[in-house]
Amino acid sequence: MDKDSEKKNTCGGPDSAAGDNRSKLDGAGIGTLCVQAGWQPRDGEPRILPIYQSTTYRYDSTDALGELFDLTRDGHMYTRISNPTVAEVEKKIAALEGGTGALLCSSGMAAILIAVLNITSAGDNILACRSVYGGTVNLFAVTLRRFGIDVRFFSQSQSDEEIEAMADGRTRLVFGETLSNPGLEVFDIIRFAKLAHRHSLPLFIDNTFPTPVNCRPFGFGADIVIHSTTKYMDGHAAVLGGAIVDGGVFDWNCGKYPELVRPDESYHGVSYVRDFGNATAYIVKARVQLMRDFGMPLTPMSAFLLNLGLETLHLRMERHCSNAMKIAELLSKHPKVESVSYPGLPDDPGHGMLMKYMPHGSCGVISFTVAGGRDGAVRFMDSLKLAALVVHVADARTSVLNPAGTTHRQLTDRQLEEAGIPAGLVRLSVGIEDCVDIASDILQALDRV
Ligand SMILES: *Cc1c(COP(=O)(O)O)cnc(C)c1O
Repeated sequence: MDKDSEKKNTCGGPDSAAGDNRSKLDGAGIGTLCVQAGWQPRDGEPRILPIYQSTTYRYDSTDALGELFDLTRDGHMYTRISNPTVAEVEKKIAALEGGTGALLCSSGMAAILIAVLNITSAGDNILACRSVYGGTVNLFAVTLRRFGIDVRFFSQSQSDEEIEAMADGRTRLVFGETLSNPGLEVFDIIRFAKLAHRHSLPLFIDNTFPTPVNCRPFGFGADIVIHSTTKYMDGHAAVLGGAIVDGGVFDWNCGKYPELVRPDESYHGVSYVRDFGNATAYIVKARVQLMRDFGMPLTPMSAFLLNLGLETLHLRMERHCSNAMKIAELLSKHPKVESVSYPGLPDDPGHGMLMKYMPHGSCGVISFTVAGGRDGAVRFMDSLKLAALVVHVADARTSVLNPAGTTHRQLTDRQLEEAGIPAGLVRLSVGIEDCVDIASDILQALDRV
């Protein structure tokens, strides 16, 4: 934030993201940040993040309230826009990713929607990698187009020239997923950051699967990071949530993003870049304009539960990864398994790229195809005892899903093929139980195929 700026209401967000934690947590490792970033109690305050279960905040004077609405005074106005409990978890997530600020949303989809719409209008277009999460493909290929935003899909196998030819004067951003759900394709962040920056475009990365424990995309040139916190960050399948994190480096003043520079009529002429500084302009606008108008905030209770999950994220990711590695090895040697996709396996096509971006591990999700196609997959899944059939991934309990029949059901056969999802694909989310128990469950179910 600019020192001499007059406007300063970031609603407990960006500027304090590093500030409060700086002295104690400067240079701290990711595990320490998981446990300790965010809520910093002062003398005599509760040790644990309090739940401020309040929609509103009391002020002494009408002037004070007026200043809040003009964004000239720092403080919370209304929980749709910000809340003290939620703000502390935003600080933790910003610290984990190494960003300047974060905005928590009611779900991962809400985060993606706000993140994209923050810098796009009807008539604009974006470039997105084809292999992203099925829900994101629906949003991009159908719903955004309905509102006049064209999404142009590329695949990583295309050349830079081919992909750059899709961009034009109305292109606003490039979008990819660090590790795609469910294909587990590793996104070449450095390549696409360079490609995007050649056209003065920011690179948006959905970092849900590796989490900042295994990959921090800002370090590789990404500009905005998005999470479905519903997955590993919460980690217990208890609360939906999403996060947008601002890397603080992209130059919004480059001439292509007037909505961040030009006066915002809905705030009597605030300019986000001028009044809040380039490093937090994006995330402040997302909060005070789009979160205000769309209303998809994370609730204080959900933020509290998410924070509990985050406190053990580093431990759980380690266990998810070591369990998944052993299960992937077991599956790859099994006669009833046709193919296994887990970039941790040395002969996986994504292994080289994985070592570049996530040398310490990827995630607990494995995709594989059982012999016998769709029927084989169904017999396998219906025979599992410990692993549950759920429409979810990335929590403490081992679970399975058949993407073509569930999460990606709305995709056409062609879209399925393009996303690399055969009908018999099983997406296995390896939990943090004892690995021998997960393995014996899988073996007995494969016996029944
Ligand atoms: C689940 C998921 C989403 C959507 O998040 P919700 O919290 O379910 O809305 C987005 N991206 C990825 C990679 C996901 O796995």
